[in-house]
Amino acid sequence: MKTFFHLLQEVIKPGLCHRCGGCVSLCTAVNYGALEIGPDGRPRYKDVEKCIECGLCHAVCPEIDELETETHHRLHWSAPIGRVLSVGIARAVDPEVRRHATDGGLVTALLLHLFHTGHIDGAIVARRTGRFEREPFLATTPEEIKESAGFFFDTSHGVAGLGEAYMARASVEALSPLMNKGLRRVALVGTPCQIQALRRMETLGVMPSESIAFCFGLYCSGNFLFDAPHRAQLAEAGSFSWDDVVKINVKDSFQVHLKDGSVRHLDIHVLDRLKRHACRYCEDYSAELADISFGGLGAPEGWTSYITRTPKGRAAYLDARGRTVEEMDRSKDPAVSDKVLETVMKAAAQKRAAARDHRRELGKPVIVAM
Ligand SMILES: Cc1cc2nc3c(=O)[nH]c(=O)nc-3n(C[C@H](O)[C@H](O)[C@H](O)COP(=O)(O)OP(=O)(O)OC[C@H]3O[C@@H](n4cnc5c(N)ncnc54)[C@H](O)[C@@H]3O)c2cc1C
Ligand code: SF4
Ligand code: SF4
Ligand code: SF4
Repeated sequence: MKTFFHLLQEVIKPGLCHRCGGCVSLCTAVNYGALEIGPDGRPRYKDVEKCIECGLCHAVCPEIDELETETHHRLHWSAPIGRVLSVGIARAVDPEVRRHATDGGLVTALLLHLFHTGHIDGAIVARRTGRFEREPFLATTPEEIKESAGFFFDTSHGVAGLGEAYMARASVEALSPLMNKGLRRVALVGTPCQIQALRRMETLGVMPSESIAFCFGLYCSGNFLFDAPHRAQLAEAGSFSWDDVVKINVKDSFQVHLKDGSVRHLDIHVLDRLKRHACRYCEDYSAELADISFGGLGAPEGWTSYITRTPKGRAAYLDARGRTVEEMDRSKDPAVSDKVLETVMKAAAQKRAAARDHRRELGKPVIVAM
């Protein structure tokens, strides 16, 4: 039976840990909490003697392919980017939601709709705690969901600071106590690696996945590091000052929105070295196992592109359309879905190819999904 000891050898020590927190969440929710997130955002033993050697942490890790085939099969995954039921571009009807959103505020608008119609009791999102800082958070009111709109970087740990502890801290520190109060229908907003860990838990049929009613995945080209040296490199590359930054967004380029209204576009591939190391080996761009995937890619400024992937995700989207969600007028461009899909598939293929190249350089076998 492979345990966390093997995750340390196979995943964490070689630098392949996505810091999704899945292993820690699971061990804390199901067992005696042998693991914790360390100060560097990576999981570690909290008390090795509490490990019952059940092997669950090893099985749910997105870097381990043990449950991949079964999980893919369960979610009707197919190449090249997973199941696709519908594709389009939409935004929040409420201009207030759009004003604080990363792109069109579609994620927030959908969460609000699900909440108001009684389909969810809460949503695991990322709450703003400072100018660029965020922390994982279980929002249980419409106000909290609205306040969590947007995409900000944690200046001490960067986006990695959110992603690193995101699932672990959210599900263990925020979700677990509320589960005890009977909160069992929660939407999880996360990066593809977080969705993958959660889906593996579902395949195993273990907590805390039982409480997740919807998986909303964000397209992801990587978590960029935002410690002082990396911030300085970015500012130099984009000729801007951090004092002038009002928003950052990642689409086909790394976009820095400045106070004077101008936007600096930095080449994502040139910024590769600023990504968290494990992101170089990650093959999932479009959150292939989500109920709905979202991104700015393929959409005009102020709109969000989406891919519904499960009947549940598609139904939720259609129910919100015309209420909290406004779909972009398709009559102006009947080929809009094809164009978005093509753009996302291209970005996904680039990310997958780069990840496989990096894996070969590392001497690791390339896993071809089935
Ligand atoms: C690390 C990262 C990389 C991304 N890379 C790309 C990319 O390459 N191309 C692209 O098109 N889109 C990318 N996105 C997605 C994009 O930034 C938007 O989140 C998406 O377009 C939805 O926009 P929205 O206005 O509809 O969402 P909003 O209505 O603003 O809602 C966004 C939701 O995501 C939550 N959130 C924010 N940051 C995080 C986080 N780090 N982890 C988990 N949840 C979070 C917020 O709390 C909020 O609930 C990335 C997102 C992240 C977090
Ligand atoms: S108890 Fe199970 S889940 Fe926890 S560390 Fe040990 S093997 Fe992993
Ligand atoms: S990738 Fe996720 S599940 Fe795997 S070791 Fe890292 S934090 Fe744990
Ligand atoms: S690229 Fe995105 S999905 Fe992949 S490991 Fe990094 S943060 Fe997770």
